[in-house]
Amino acid sequence: FSGSPFYAKMIVCVNKFGGVFVGVKLDGRAFADKLQEELKQEVATWKENGKRLPKLVVILVGEDVGSQVYVRNKERAAKKIGFYSQIDRLSDEVTEAELLERIQQYNNDPEVDGILVQLPLPKHIDEEKVILTIDSKKDVDGFHPMNMGKLFIGKPDKMPCTPYGIIRLLKEYNIEMAGKNAVVIGRSNIVGKPMGQLLLMEDATVTITHSRTQNLKEITKQADIVVVAIGRGEFLTADYIKEGAVVVDVGMNRNAEGKLVGDVKFDEVSEKASFITPVPGGVGPMTISMLMDQTVANRRED
Ligand code: NAP
Repeated sequence: FSGSPFYAKMIVCVNKFGGVFVGVKLDGRAFADKLQEELKQEVATWKENGKRLPKLVVILVGEDVGSQVYVRNKERAAKKIGFYSQIDRLSDEVTEAELLERIQQYNNDPEVDGILVQLPLPKHIDEEKVILTIDSKKDVDGFHPMNMGKLFIGKPDKMPCTPYGIIRLLKEYNIEMAGKNAVVIGRSNIVGKPMGQLLLMEDATVTITHSRTQNLKEITKQADIVVVAIGRGEFLTADYIKEGAVVVDVGMNRNAEGKLVGDVKFDEVSEKASFITPVPGGVGPMTISMLMDQTVANRRED
């Protein structure tokens, strides 16, 4: 792993499955911090030169506890990098029309570079309509159908931050994707499907699986790269993967003790995988850094 970054962490050298390899933790937090430091330096030079700083608006509807945490993390990262972030907190009684009107105001504001509406939204608001209303150029979450369409014709602009962050992390560790068998578990619009497309664009041979897939284990055991995004705590055990596979864990779940766990049973899978993302500290921080990256990119293009 001569090309691997300095923060590569060794897990084991010889595993109990009889294989000899070095399992490396894909340290999303360290790489995300490095990327944010680079963005901070870029933004600092803009400040010195009197250029307007980037601005991200996050719209939060209601009091969902998880959403509050995610929004706070995004605001913290934006502050750290040194650009303006504004959290627009709306009551869960806001009407759909009022929310759409608010988004239009930000679309028309030339000082706003990125708009993000934190999901999920209350049931009386149509999420699809909300996403469609965001100016696709300011859609730093990459969920707008225009951005999804561009991605699927192989001409990406704004990309869904989680799969984009995963690809950046795999590249940082020089993990070869071309010609490899990649299996994605989960087919959501924000993770599974775009993940498959991004792996395809890296010339991997991609299989996307879901809850109706039969013989999942037989499919995942053929994979060189497995990305798990299903939202089921510690679902993927060592018997799902082949020796030396690369395993990316997108899941964020609370176990019975209230501890944050991924979709992968880390302790046993890390002994069989060649590379693996931890939870926390793997995919999550990369998602936030990609959001910042796509917001700064909008200002850079101005
Ligand atoms: P989602 O919309 O609920 O989709 C889950 C997908 O998993 C569905 O396609 C479902 O199949 C599939 N699935 C469920 N159980 C399965 C099983 N037993 N075997 C195979 N496939 C199964 O979830 P999501 O939004 O993609 O999120 C997935 C997980 O990632 C969640 O834990 C979420 O919190 C986490 N997440 C983390 C980040 C981050 O930044 N770290 C970002 C986004 C999401 P069907 O389509 O057939 O129902």
